[in-house]
Amino acid sequence: VIAQCALGVDIGGTKMLAGVVDRDGQVARREERATPQESQEVFLKELDSLVEGLLDDDVAALGFGLPSTIDQRAGRTVGSVHIPLADFDFRDRMSERFRLPVAIDNDGNVTAIAEWKLGAGRGASHIVALTLGTGIGGGLILDGKPYRGSIGAGAELGHIVLDYDGVPCGGACTGRGHFEALAAGSAADGAAEQRFGSGATSRQLVEAARAGDEGAAEDLAEIGRRLGAGIASFVNIFNPELVILGGGFAHAEDLILDSARETLALEALPPGRDLVRIVRAEFGREAGMIGAALVAFEAFDAGAS
Ligand SMILES: [Zn+2]
Repeated sequence: VIAQCALGVDIGGTKMLAGVVDRDGQVARREERATPQESQEVFLKELDSLVEGLLDDDVAALGFGLPSTIDQRAGRTVGSVHIPLADFDFRDRMSERFRLPVAIDNDGNVTAIAEWKLGAGRGASHIVALTLGTGIGGGLILDGKPYRGSIGAGAELGHIVLDYDGVPCGGACTGRGHFEALAAGSAADGAAEQRFGSGATSRQLVEAARAGDEGAAEDLAEIGRRLGAGIASFVNIFNPELVILGGGFAHAEDLILDSARETLALEALPPGRDLVRIVRAEFGREAGMIGAALVAFEAFDAGAS
């Protein structure tokens, strides 16, 4: 039996995007809803309704990309920074309710899988994928397969420590000076507020820099240097062929990438430093949804064989 379509659901802190996807990544139909934040009960009710609205006989499996740390042994979400979903038997709950094979994975991992199988990482075996949004999502492809650590809770690349005892990280993370607090949208929001006052955003900072504001440009260059420092650590550890950058904040690449490359050149060791290529993600906001469908196909195929 070959599954024709899977339903992939990308769950973020503000929206849930679901789509019926075939094995080539073509999306037959899609739907987006706001992510309820009131409680786990309300969140699950809305998610059930989103899935039910898209299910039909073509859908052979379900995949969920979650902004959560996951224990793949039990199919449990252990904790979530941006959604009301704590310690929960997510995979069993969904397979019992919908009577289909279910895969769950971290949102950074499914994004990396989509780019590796169908996007900017096609043909590569060693990839570091970074999604630059408010925070930084990360995923690793190593030796030609996704790397998730010992129980599936990796790879939280956004939470490497760049500045020990530095600024607090966001949400439920108790760490300080983490990569995602220093090198993505929330850092640009902070710089914007310092420069333009309370309520200013990274978007204003980017627009000001493009309009010739040298201070705003320097703020973004500094964020780029931090980004380059983090990438250099990944290059030193993993010797990837590709670093794939996606996410909304990656649109500021004209303002951050030159300084990121300068720092990378200083901090990363040859020959990895000279071999790695930094490329733009091919999938935009649908990367997580498509990757979630791809892991759903894996769950289906594992059950069928
Ligand atoms: Zn953190």
